[in-house]
Amino acid sequence: MMAMTILYTVGNQLYVNLTNRCPCRCTFCIRQNGDGAYGSDSLWLEHEPDMEEIRAAFSQYNLADFSELIFCGYGEPTERLDTLLETAAYAKSLPNCPPIRLNTNGLSDRINGAKTACRMAGLLDTVSVSLNAGTEAEYLRVTRPKWEDAFSVMQQFAVDCKQYVPKVMFTVVDVIPQAEMDAAQALADSLGIPLRVRTYTA
Ligand code: SF4
Repeated sequence: MMAMTILYTVGNQLYVNLTNRCPCRCTFCIRQNGDGAYGSDSLWLEHEPDMEEIRAAFSQYNLADFSELIFCGYGEPTERLDTLLETAAYAKSLPNCPPIRLNTNGLSDRINGAKTACRMAGLLDTVSVSLNAGTEAEYLRVTRPKWEDAFSVMQQFAVDCKQYVPKVMFTVVDVIPQAEMDAAQALADSLGIPLRVRTYTA
Protein backbone atom coordinates (compact mmCIF):
# COMPACT_ATOMS: atom_id res chain seq x y z
CA MET A 1 0.00 0.00 0.00
CA MET A 2 1.25 3.46 -0.78
CA ALA A 3 1.71 5.82 2.11
CA MET A 4 0.55 9.38 1.68
CA THR A 5 3.07 11.67 3.32
CA ILE A 6 2.03 15.29 2.97
CA LEU A 7 4.05 16.61 5.93
CA TYR A 8 7.21 15.09 7.37
CA THR A 9 9.83 16.19 9.83
CA VAL A 10 13.60 16.29 9.66
CA GLY A 11 15.00 17.46 12.98
CA ASN A 12 13.11 20.58 13.95
CA GLN A 13 12.03 21.36 10.40
CA LEU A 14 8.62 20.54 8.99
CA TYR A 15 8.57 19.63 5.29
CA VAL A 16 5.63 19.90 2.89
CA ASN A 17 5.36 17.39 0.04
CA LEU A 18 2.83 18.56 -2.57
CA THR A 19 3.79 16.80 -5.77
CA ASN A 20 6.05 14.24 -7.38
CA ARG A 21 6.09 16.09 -10.69
CA CYS A 22 9.26 17.81 -11.88
CA PRO A 23 10.54 19.01 -15.27
CA CYS A 24 14.08 17.85 -14.43
CA ARG A 25 15.71 14.44 -14.11
CA CYS A 26 18.68 15.19 -11.92
CA THR A 27 21.28 12.48 -11.94
CA PHE A 28 21.44 12.57 -8.12
CA CYS A 29 17.69 12.90 -7.51
CA ILE A 30 16.31 11.01 -4.57
CA ARG A 31 13.33 10.15 -6.81
CA GLN A 32 15.70 7.85 -8.66
CA ASN A 33 17.26 6.37 -5.54
CA GLY A 34 14.39 4.39 -4.02
CA ASP A 35 11.69 5.68 -1.72
CA GLY A 36 11.77 6.85 1.86
CA ALA A 37 13.74 9.92 2.92
CA TYR A 38 15.45 10.29 6.24
CA GLY A 39 13.41 7.48 7.76
CA SER A 40 10.06 9.02 6.89
CA ASP A 41 7.23 7.17 5.20
CA SER A 42 7.11 7.03 1.44
CA LEU A 43 7.02 10.44 -0.18
CA TRP A 44 5.50 9.02 -3.33
CA LEU A 45 2.02 10.50 -3.35
CA GLU A 46 -0.83 8.27 -4.46
CA HIS A 47 -2.52 11.52 -5.48
CA GLU A 48 -1.64 15.16 -5.07
CA PRO A 49 -3.19 16.39 -1.84
CA ASP A 50 -5.90 19.05 -1.94
CA MET A 51 -6.28 21.86 0.57
CA GLU A 52 -8.63 19.84 2.74
CA GLU A 53 -6.05 17.07 3.05
CA ILE A 54 -3.27 19.58 3.61
CA ARG A 55 -5.17 21.34 6.40
CA ALA A 56 -5.90 17.95 8.00
CA ALA A 57 -2.18 17.10 7.86
CA PHE A 58 -1.31 20.41 9.56
CA SER A 59 -3.79 19.65 12.34
CA GLN A 60 -1.48 16.79 13.41
CA TYR A 61 1.39 19.16 14.21
CA ASN A 62 2.07 22.08 16.52
CA LEU A 63 3.94 24.66 14.48
CA ALA A 64 5.58 26.00 17.63
CA ASP A 65 7.72 22.83 17.60
CA PHE A 66 9.47 23.81 14.37
CA SER A 67 12.12 26.32 13.38
CA GLU A 68 11.18 26.30 9.70
CA LEU A 69 8.44 25.12 7.33
CA ILE A 70 9.91 23.94 4.03
CA PHE A 71 8.27 23.13 0.70
CA CYS A 72 10.35 20.35 -0.75
CA GLY A 73 9.51 16.66 -1.22
CA TYR A 74 10.05 14.28 -4.15
CA GLY A 75 9.20 16.74 -6.85
CA GLU A 76 9.22 20.42 -7.71
CA PRO A 77 6.82 22.34 -5.43
CA THR A 78 6.16 25.08 -7.99
CA GLU A 79 4.51 22.46 -10.20
CA ARG A 80 1.64 23.24 -7.83
CA LEU A 81 2.22 26.93 -7.36
CA ASP A 82 -1.38 27.86 -6.50
CA THR A 83 -1.60 25.16 -3.84
CA LEU A 84 1.88 25.98 -2.56
CA LEU A 85 0.94 29.64 -2.03
CA GLU A 86 -2.45 28.77 -0.57
CA THR A 87 -0.73 26.37 1.84
CA ALA A 88 1.81 29.03 2.81
CA ALA A 89 -1.02 31.50 3.47
CA TYR A 90 -2.86 28.89 5.50
CA ALA A 91 0.24 28.05 7.55
CA LYS A 92 0.82 31.75 8.22
CA SER A 93 -2.74 32.01 9.55
CA LEU A 94 -1.99 29.34 12.16
CA PRO A 95 -0.49 30.18 15.57
CA ASN A 96 3.31 30.12 15.86
CA CYS A 97 4.03 29.58 12.17
CA PRO A 98 7.81 29.52 11.72
CA PRO A 99 9.54 31.12 8.70
CA ILE A 100 8.61 29.45 5.41
CA ARG A 101 11.16 28.32 2.84
CA LEU A 102 10.76 27.04 -0.68
CA ASN A 103 13.39 24.63 -1.99
CA THR A 104 13.10 24.81 -5.76
CA ASN A 105 14.83 24.08 -9.04
CA GLY A 106 14.04 27.68 -10.00
CA LEU A 107 12.03 26.79 -13.09
CA SER A 108 8.69 28.06 -11.80
CA ASP A 109 8.36 30.72 -14.50
CA ARG A 110 8.68 28.15 -17.28
CA ILE A 111 6.49 25.61 -15.48
CA ASN A 112 3.76 28.19 -14.96
CA GLY A 113 4.23 30.15 -18.16
CA ALA A 114 4.57 33.52 -16.40
CA LYS A 115 6.72 35.50 -14.01
CA THR A 116 6.02 34.00 -10.60
CA ALA A 117 8.45 35.47 -8.04
CA CYS A 118 6.04 38.39 -7.45
CA ARG A 119 3.37 35.98 -6.23
CA MET A 120 5.60 34.84 -3.38
CA ALA A 121 5.71 38.22 -1.65
CA GLY A 122 4.49 38.07 1.93
CA LEU A 123 4.11 34.29 1.82
CA LEU A 124 7.63 32.93 1.61
CA ASP A 125 10.51 34.04 3.82
CA THR A 126 13.26 32.18 1.99
CA VAL A 127 13.66 30.84 -1.53
CA SER A 128 16.50 28.36 -1.96
CA VAL A 129 17.29 27.67 -5.61
CA SER A 130 19.31 24.60 -6.61
CA LEU A 131 22.12 25.91 -8.74
CA ASN A 132 23.76 22.48 -8.93
CA ALA A 133 26.63 23.62 -11.14
CA GLY A 134 28.68 26.63 -12.14
CA THR A 135 28.38 26.37 -15.89
CA GLU A 136 25.47 25.87 -18.25
CA ALA A 137 26.93 22.71 -19.78
CA GLU A 138 27.37 21.07 -16.40
CA TYR A 139 23.95 22.27 -15.19
CA LEU A 140 22.25 20.69 -18.20
CA ARG A 141 24.26 17.50 -17.83
CA VAL A 142 23.35 17.13 -14.15
CA THR A 143 19.73 18.30 -14.05
CA ARG A 144 18.53 17.20 -17.51
CA PRO A 145 15.66 19.72 -17.67
CA LYS A 146 12.86 19.65 -20.24
CA TRP A 147 13.92 23.07 -21.55
CA GLU A 148 17.25 23.98 -23.06
CA ASP A 149 17.14 27.54 -21.69
CA ALA A 150 16.57 26.30 -18.14
CA PHE A 151 19.90 27.62 -16.84
CA SER A 152 19.03 31.22 -17.66
CA VAL A 153 15.37 30.84 -16.63
CA MET A 154 16.50 29.57 -13.22
CA GLN A 155 18.94 32.44 -12.73
CA GLN A 156 16.39 35.10 -13.72
CA PHE A 157 13.85 33.63 -11.29
CA ALA A 158 16.39 33.75 -8.46
CA VAL A 159 17.24 37.37 -9.27
CA ASP A 160 13.52 38.27 -9.43
CA CYS A 161 12.95 36.66 -6.02
CA LYS A 162 15.30 39.19 -4.42
CA GLN A 163 12.63 41.84 -5.00
CA TYR A 164 9.88 39.91 -3.27
CA VAL A 165 11.34 37.47 -0.75
CA PRO A 166 13.50 38.49 2.24
CA LYS A 167 16.10 35.76 1.79
CA VAL A 168 17.21 34.17 -1.48
CA MET A 169 20.04 31.68 -1.81
CA PHE A 170 21.58 29.26 -4.26
CA THR A 171 22.65 25.78 -3.22
CA VAL A 172 25.12 23.26 -4.54
CA VAL A 173 25.96 19.88 -3.07
CA ASP A 174 29.47 19.29 -1.84
CA VAL A 175 30.23 16.50 -4.31
CA ILE A 176 30.83 18.70 -7.35
CA PRO A 177 34.42 19.23 -8.51
CA GLN A 178 36.28 22.25 -7.13
CA ALA A 179 36.34 23.97 -10.52
CA GLU A 180 32.52 23.74 -10.69
CA MET A 181 32.28 24.95 -7.12
CA ASP A 182 34.45 27.97 -7.95
CA ALA A 183 32.37 28.70 -11.04
CA ALA A 184 29.15 28.39 -9.00
CA GLN A 185 30.53 30.80 -6.41
CA ALA A 186 31.54 33.30 -9.10
CA LEU A 187 28.10 33.06 -10.72
CA ALA A 188 26.31 33.49 -7.39
CA ASP A 189 28.52 36.47 -6.57
CA SER A 190 27.82 38.08 -9.95
CA LEU A 191 24.06 37.80 -9.29
CA GLY A 192 24.39 39.03 -5.70
CA ILE A 193 22.93 35.84 -4.25
CA PRO A 194 24.61 33.86 -1.44
CA LEU A 195 25.70 30.31 -2.21
CA ARG A 196 25.12 27.60 0.38
CA VAL A 197 27.04 24.35 0.09
CA ARG A 198 24.92 21.38 1.17
CA THR A 199 26.18 18.00 2.29
CA TYR A 200 25.06 15.25 -0.10
CA THR A 201 22.57 13.04 1.73
CA ALA A 202 20.61 11.01 -0.84
S1 SF4 B 1 14.82 19.27 -9.47
FE1 SF4 B 1 14.66 18.16 -7.52
S2 SF4 B 1 12.89 16.81 -7.74
FE2 SF4 B 1 13.44 17.52 -9.79
S3 SF4 B 1 14.77 15.89 -10.59
FE3 SF4 B 1 16.08 17.46 -9.67
S4 SF4 B 1 16.45 16.79 -7.55
FE4 SF4 B 1 14.69 15.64 -8.37
